[in-house]
Amino acid sequence: MSISKEIQGFLLNNSIERFLRYVKVWTTSDENSKTFPSTNNQFELGKLLADELISLNLEDVVHDKFGFVYGYLPPSEGCENVQALGLIAHLDTSPAVNGKDVKPVIHKKYDGSDIIFAQNPDLILTIKDSPQLEEYIGLDIITSQGDTLLGVDDKAGIAEIMAVCSVWNEFPDLKHGPIVVCFTPDEEIGRGTTKINKKRLPEVCYTMDGSEMGQFEIECFDAWGVTIKFKGLNVHPGYAKGLMINAIHIASRFLSELPEAESPEKTEEREGFYHLTNLKGNEEEASAVLIVRDFEHKKNDKRMEYLKSLKSKYETLYPGLKIELAFKHQYENMFTYLEKKQKIVDLAKKAIKLAGIEVKIHSIRGGTDGAKLSSKGIPTPNIFAGGLLFHSRKEYIPTLALQKASEVLIHLANLWTKE
Ligand SMILES: [Zn+2]
Repeated sequence: MSISKEIQGFLLNNSIERFLRYVKVWTTSDENSKTFPSTNNQFELGKLLADELISLNLEDVVHDKFGFVYGYLPPSEGCENVQALGLIAHLDTSPAVNGKDVKPVIHKKYDGSDIIFAQNPDLILTIKDSPQLEEYIGLDIITSQGDTLLGVDDKAGIAEIMAVCSVWNEFPDLKHGPIVVCFTPDEEIGRGTTKINKKRLPEVCYTMDGSEMGQFEIECFDAWGVTIKFKGLNVHPGYAKGLMINAIHIASRFLSELPEAESPEKTEEREGFYHLTNLKGNEEEASAVLIVRDFEHKKNDKRMEYLKSLKSKYETLYPGLKIELAFKHQYENMFTYLEKKQKIVDLAKKAIKLAGIEVKIHSIRGGTDGAKLSSKGIPTPNIFAGGLLFHSRKEYIPTLALQKASEVLIHLANLWTKE
């Protein structure tokens, strides 16, 4: 199937118009909040989107008390038996940078020179910051005015899903099976699936939350949290010889045995690490908190074995010392699940190619909502939404990426109708 010029133009205009509106709604999430959603203003965008989904003829549109928006688009004629697809994007923006009063700017026909920000003369976006800019020469680029983030993460994803719903409404010849749209709050603070209603989601979902055009993410870290407690014995330092077991000092010796080459600051791409996040205590007792990350479960197992071997070594070295190790599995590499569901991956790759873009497989050095959903039994890889330099005041997106990501969704839904 090829997408006509008319539909391409419709997608471009529709997604830009929506994106420019959605970024202006303040939806910063707050990790210190205990409520769901973490901030009330996320309701504002949710309400707007729920109303717009209704006007696009989606059914069963729900905006629930936790801030989630769900909508159901019935299949086009003849596609009643097609596998239903879930399309997911998140409402919130990162608390790392101010997201209030975003004023988007379109830089027409980018010419390769530095991009200056109206509200922040010291801020400059260059090709050195983001080499992809070189590929975007000649395109229109959207940025903020430099005093806020732009909110491409993930309002681009929302605008693309909404644009596709509009196009399906406008051009009924485009075939698709049943579609479930789901917009989630609080993804940026790791709570995007905590209150999700799994019953509303189909067995196959895709998040639209990746970065540059063509990017497709099917794996993330296998993640463990480790707490180590050192129990020593305090004695007056003047009389301590042969008696004192200085817990915090021993803890620091123990931790110095973790290989520096396996730390976040020394690793990239598919390399794993140990990362010490907290160390506290005194002579009597000390505790350390680590996170352990890798793409391969087996390599993390080895790291935990190494920690256990250090425990026996130090308990032998310091008679009377007790070390307690506690391991907690935080999230799993979603590839474990996607490996068994090759079709979900293959059709997305095919859809990206059909949109005329090169597929760039990327491994996420972190977790995603898709990983959590995958481990809950809903395999959910992540498709690009098109923005770059996430969570910074230099965030940007070429307008073409909004159109192309929407095209990918049209192809993807169409490919599923042939399965
Ligand atoms: Zn995101």
